[in-house]
Amino acid sequence: MRAQTERAVAEAQVILFVIDAREGVTALDEVFGEVLRRCAAPVIVVANKSEGRAGESGALDAYGLGFGEPVALSAEHGEGLADLYQAVMAAAPADEDPLDGTEDGDKPIRIAVVGRPNAGKSTLINALIGEDRLLTGPEAGITRDAIGVEWAFETRRVRLVDTAGLRRKAKVEEGLEHLSTRDTLRAITFAEVVLLVMDATHPFETQDLTIADLVEREGRALVFILAKWDLVQNPQAALAEFIDQAERQLPQLRGAPVVALSAETGRGLDRLMPAVISAHTHWSTKIKTRDLNDWLREAVERHPPPAVDGRRVRPKYMAQTKARPPTFVLFASRADKLAESYRRYLINSLRHSFDLPGTPIRITVKSGSNPYADGEAKGARRTRH
Ligand code: GDP
Repeated sequence: MRAQTERAVAEAQVILFVIDAREGVTALDEVFGEVLRRCAAPVIVVANKSEGRAGESGALDAYGLGFGEPVALSAEHGEGLADLYQAVMAAAPADEDPLDGTEDGDKPIRIAVVGRPNAGKSTLINALIGEDRLLTGPEAGITRDAIGVEWAFETRRVRLVDTAGLRRKAKVEEGLEHLSTRDTLRAITFAEVVLLVMDATHPFETQDLTIADLVEREGRALVFILAKWDLVQNPQAALAEFIDQAERQLPQLRGAPVVALSAETGRGLDRLMPAVISAHTHWSTKIKTRDLNDWLREAVERHPPPAVDGRRVRPKYMAQTKARPPTFVLFASRADKLAESYRRYLINSLRHSFDLPGTPIRITVKSGSNPYADGEAKGARRTRH
């Protein structure tokens, strides 16, 4: 436990030290406290199970650990989360440029495989990493631990996360629907690239659409997999029909990669990892502010936003605030009057101009002009906060 804790805290920027408020500070908590006192990152003591009376004394007790005011929380009842959020924000290292520090080329790309029961997920995973290898010990090039399986594709490391839900499937037959929904959510949360496996003989059932939409809303990169392709009669027509259907039913994911494959014959499998890498690259795109504003000027000239109450709504300046997924802030005069359809126009144009097929794109519209135009004045104001 000690070794594991030391490894975890070595990587952390903020540490949440969770104690059970009902039990108070135990001897073991004291031991962890000793370990944490020696690390550089800020420590927030979280007194969990603090709902009701029974937690009060434990929360007080937690002061004694010497890490300042504990955050009283009930994870189960969802109480105290706002306080925790504030404590984390206050403790987190200031990040002046949010686009810095996302450079993690040496970290593996985290992949999850999701889809309806029987879509062909397990078969695909086994084809990717080998059935025997999944069940037995590690082999050359593949490592595994409690949370996933890792290997390298060309120069990139990839990690398949959360195969636990899939493995559990074999044992749990009852409540499968419920289980798969929960596991799907979990897998999406942990992943960067989500492989949505669909049975190619009847793709785009309601559940598939729901999952695809969820992936988009969670801001992950998506790759459509048409599994069991060997069972499809007229592959070319089927693929065209599929892409057409995708664009109609999921316009927010326009251009996401589609890989038709058969895990059983192995056909098409070689196109999977290149699609994953490509989706991940688009998802990680960073656009220079100058290029972004050159594009904005052109996009607005080509198609100005409609006037509201006889006055123009003017987009003025745009900046990317983060990648993964690409997220932008647009400053406009009378921002609240900018039509949703116009925001969609900008997203589509951005997708097209900067080659961002299929990746979720976020644009927040804010009032005001270029906040960075007079950098010094604004900078001064910001430090006063
Ligand atoms: P999961 O529930 O999504 O994990 O689906 P499975 O991987 O267990 O597959 C469901 C069924 O589809 C099994 O009977 C598989 O043998 C079959 N299956 C999976 N992939 C293929 C494929 O590429 N071709 C064919 N013909 N059958 C497949």
